[in-house]
Amino acid sequence: MVVIVGTGVAGLSAAVSLRRNGYKVRLITKKITGGSTYIAKGGAAASLTGDDSPELHAQDTIKVGDGMCDLKAVNYVTKEAPSAIHELEKWGFQFDPDLRLEGGHSRRRVAHKTDETGREFYEFLMSEAKKEEIPILEDRVKALMVKDNEVRGVITEGSAIEDDKVVLATGGYAYLFKFSSTQPTNVGDGMAIAFDAGALLGDMEFVQFHPTVTSIDGEVFLLTETLRGEGAVLVNDKGERFAFTYDKRGELAPRDVLSRAIYDQYSKGYKVFMDLRGIKDLERKFPVLISFLRRHNKTPSDLLDVFPGAHFVDGGVRVNTRGETNLKGLYAIGEVSDSGLHGANRLASNSLIEGLVFGMNLYRYIDKWEGFYPDDGTMVSVTEWKGRKASIDEIREMNWSNVGIVRNKERLEKAIAYYKEVDTSSSCEESKASLISYLTAYSALMRDESRGNHFREDFPFHKKEWEGKRIYFRLTRS
Ligand SMILES: Cc1cc2nc3c(=O)[nH]c(=O)nc-3n(C[C@H](O)[C@H](O)[C@H](O)COP(=O)(O)OP(=O)(O)OC[C@H]3O[C@@H](n4cnc5c(N)ncnc54)[C@H](O)[C@@H]3O)c2cc1C
Repeated sequence: MVVIVGTGVAGLSAAVSLRRNGYKVRLITKKITGGSTYIAKGGAAASLTGDDSPELHAQDTIKVGDGMCDLKAVNYVTKEAPSAIHELEKWGFQFDPDLRLEGGHSRRRVAHKTDETGREFYEFLMSEAKKEEIPILEDRVKALMVKDNEVRGVITEGSAIEDDKVVLATGGYAYLFKFSSTQPTNVGDGMAIAFDAGALLGDMEFVQFHPTVTSIDGEVFLLTETLRGEGAVLVNDKGERFAFTYDKRGELAPRDVLSRAIYDQYSKGYKVFMDLRGIKDLERKFPVLISFLRRHNKTPSDLLDVFPGAHFVDGGVRVNTRGETNLKGLYAIGEVSDSGLHGANRLASNSLIEGLVFGMNLYRYIDKWEGFYPDDGTMVSVTEWKGRKASIDEIREMNWSNVGIVRNKERLEKAIAYYKEVDTSSSCEESKASLISYLTAYSALMRDESRGNHFREDFPFHKKEWEGKRIYFRLTRS
């Protein structure tokens, strides 16, 4: 029996595929409709046309990854992506006929269904899991059972489940920033649990912010790049279209550049809004946005507050292309993992496809353990410590102000000092979130350069010696 933790694209596709290849599986999830997949928008990238190829997809991925991609992972995912899309179609999923072009891609290669591809994946895969009668338990996994350096099962809030293969598909930790586009389930639990059991974490300093997130009456909504491509503009409360003063591409500047521009406007005391009035045929092109506006009694003529929100994390539990960690029996797939695919910055629409490829292919490797210990970085040993408990809201505030879009030594040291006083040693969510935040701040301080989505205002340039060099954390018991 294989236990899979998480019901996003990675966990669900792994469960269905393993089951269809003769394995007994069970799913455990903190919240059935939790995770990023459930609210993901754009689509999944794969080379699917005659003028495209896995090599071109790989080149685009590597360029955005800014010197930090693991080439094995890039070649593997870009090569397997078309087969994963076709396999999903064989299972009965129907994509819309067109492919979308997104920022950073040199070809139209984003397969999608409506404006809510993630939700469509989720609904489809969940119904397939139900057809296969895969048991699904709604509970939080708080620790792994480990004996003789091998994983033997999971401990949840309510029970202990013994299984000799555990697949973590628990997503990232983008919710640990005050402004975020993801759901409260995504607080880095899975990474901290794996770390506590002896797995290596890497690339924790690389957090991607999406420049245009909005929130009305507490409902967070991602305003996709496509809106800006179709004519939406950004203005501040003085009515100025400020984006061009930061970059000649204006609102179409890359995500990290635009995020910093909006952040700077807020730091100067302005508010930032998106003006949708320049989009022709908005109702037909963006029905999901229209229903969001209607739900909140807004019209397309109203200005929408926008802020850059933590959206995706590149780092996590270090794995090879089989999803194997350094701890026997433990696999990590999807956003919880650090396969090295994304390097220092993720190419748009490369994460749903990563989850699908690793999930669907897992059956090939699950009985042939090889294990993985990386040799491309610096190893930092960390001991967990006791202290007062920090709330998730405090952590989100601390990270936003000190470990967020624009970082410097002083603010990172402030965050590190703060986390040194709070508890990282217990199995509760807050303790795990504090540990993950500490590791993010620590690696962001160590990496005294700017690269990908990691921006240090005190070191606003690349340093050659950091290229391709990862920072890894491992636990030592005191
Ligand atoms: C608004 C938004 C839009 C996006 N749009 C796109 C897009 O268009 N294309 C793209 O490629 N990517 C997109 N992304 C990123 C992408 O959605 C995610 O990277 C991807 O869905 C992650 O899938 P996953 O299966 O790894 O994890 P998730 O979908 O995040 O699922 C994590 C699961 O783990 C469970 N879980 C967490 N902790 C525990 C625990 N301790 N115990 C038990 N269960 C636990 C949760 O309940 C959840 O089921 C978007 C992200 C957001 C937030």
